[in-house]
Parts: sequence; C-alpha cells; structure tokens
Amino acid sequence: MKQTVAFIGLGAMGWHMASHLPKTGLDVLVWNRTEAKAQQHASHFATQAVTIEQAVQADYIFSCLPTSADVEQLIQAHPPKAGSVWIDCTSGVPESAQKLSKQLQTIGVAYLDAPVSGQTIGAENGTLTVMVGGDALAFEQAKPVIQAFAGLIEHVGDSGSGFAVKAVNNTLMATHLWALAEGMTLLKSKGVDLASALSCINHSSGKSSMSENIMAQRVLNRGFNKTFALDLLQKDIGIAVDLIQQEQLQLPAMQMVQQQFTRIEKSKAQDLDFSAAVQSLEQMNRIELS
Ligand code: NDP
Repeated sequence: MKQTVAFIGLGAMGWHMASHLPKTGLDVLVWNRTEAKAQQHASHFATQAVTIEQAVQADYIFSCLPTSADVEQLIQAHPPKAGSVWIDCTSGVPESAQKLSKQLQTIGVAYLDAPVSGQTIGAENGTLTVMVGGDALAFEQAKPVIQAFAGLIEHVGDSGSGFAVKAVNNTLMATHLWALAEGMTLLKSKGVDLASALSCINHSSGKSSMSENIMAQRVLNRGFNKTFALDLLQKDIGIAVDLIQQEQLQLPAMQMVQQQFTRIEKSKAQDLDFSAAVQSLEQMNRIELS
C-alpha cells in the first residue's frame, strides 16, 4: 500500500512546508485546528484535508505548532500508529523532546525533534535548514521526506539536540538584531544617514542576516511586516535561558538579550513581528530608526 505523510499545523511556516510534500510521491494529508485552512491548502496544492484521527494514522507525521505543550497535548489526545515516525518541526523544549521520544517508543513510534530555520521565505522556497535530534535510524528513514522542504538537514545528536540548536540560533538572531539596533541608534544620534551606514556594514565585518535583510526591509522602512511573531522569539530565548540555568553556566549576554526582548509583554508581542522588539530601544532613547 502507498505510504502516507501528514502535516499538522498549517500556520505561517507549516502552510508552505506542507506544500512541498507532494514532491515525495507519498499521499499527503493535512490537518489544521482551524479546518478551513486545511480545505484551502487542499484546493491550492496536491494535498488532502483530513480529520486529526486520520492524520495520526500516517506513516510520517510532521507537526509545526507554536509550542511543545501544544504538541504534547495533541499526541496525548491522538496517539500515532505503531511503526510511524513523528517529525516535530515546532521550535520546542529539549526536555519535552526527550519525554515524547521515550513515551512514543513504548508504542513503537519514533519521535524526532526537527525544528527549522529560514523564515517563511525559506519555507516557501523549500530551502529551510532542519536541525534534527533523535534516533539515527529514524533520521535516515525520515530524511528523504524532510528533503522536500529543506536546503540543509543535519542530524545534530540525541533527542532534544535539535531543539537546543534552534533555541541557541534564535537567541543569536535576537542578539544580532539588538546589537545592530544599538549601533544604528548611536549613528542616528551622530547624524549619520542610516541607509548609507547599513550599506557600509553590509560590506564589512559587522554584517549579519539581520543587517542584510531585517533592518532595511522591516525597521528602516517602518513596515515591521509580521512573518515571525515576537512572542515565539521570546519563547525561543526563554528555552535557551532555561538551558543555561539547567547547565549552571554563566552566559550574561544571552540573559541580557532575554531582558531586552521581553520588555514588550506577551499579549502584545503575539501580534507583532519579532523586528518590533527594537521599538522599545527607540522609546528608551527617543530615536526612531528610519
Ligand atoms: P503560526 O502562529 O503562524 O501557526 C501556528 C499553527 O499552529 C497554526 O496552524 C495554528 O492553528 C496551530 N495551532 C496553534 N495552537 C494549536 C493547538 N493548541 N493545537 C493545534 N494546533 C494549534 O506559527 P508559525 O508557523 O510562525 O510557527 C510555528 C512554529 O515554527 C513555532 O514553534 C515557531 O517558533 C517556529 N518557527 C517559525 C518561523 C517563522 O518565521 N514564522 C521560523 C522558524 C520556526 P490555527 O490556524 O487554528 O490558529
């Protein structure tokens, strides 16, 4: 019988990721909490909208939900079938990956933590970086399916390692954005033209993906176009800071970045793009980065 792959969570990332799965040649099932989105997906792509009960009967199941708690709840209510591989693309908590991996193993299911990086544009283009933790054999089995939306797939270690790499990556992203915004604030105060300054930085050693993409495309143009919610980045930094505490390390810059990125409270942050975090720096200094 033809194998099936299901995708659970057709949000900003999942919508695009699932759209590439028909390339695998498997039958592609999609499920979303708001059902209309799954119906819409099926009408745009070669996918089939199904019930959650049908989705968890697939041979490969992807999830891309906001948090590990959401995935845990879903798996608790709807356990997958024996022999399947659950590939969790949520940016989640390493401890939760270890717990789910052990729990699913008892019913014959392999669980991989496989968070992604590359923003919605990378999801749309099928060029995401996928950092995978978990059993090496399950990884080899799932790799050709993950390939459908990936530019790079790395097996980074045991269960939870993928989530740990993702949390560190996103904390670095936040650090780069904040440091760049501080530099831009200083330059604006000195009367330097920010577009020219940014051009120099992007041809110099201080550049980053934040200087090359986000500063011009979301901050200087005042668009703050939402593709990645600030509350999700706050969650990722929180995961990294929790790991620092568990490991009893002293990593002051990461902890400082958390303080700055949580100045905007969660209820507001969920409606904002992550780039809007620099607005609290603008308010502190009464200097707009434009
Ligand atoms: P969105 O908020 O756009 O989408 C979330 C999806 O999860 C929606 O399909 C939503 O359904 C569903 N959902 C939310 N809560 C539940 C629940 N309790 N049970 C079942 N389904 C639920 O998020 P993103 O796509 O932006 O992010 C998803 C994950 O990917 C997050 O962990 C994020 O940190 C990570 N990520 C995001 C990136 C980005 O640029 N946006 C980049 C890389 C990683 P409904 O439609 O009903 O609301």
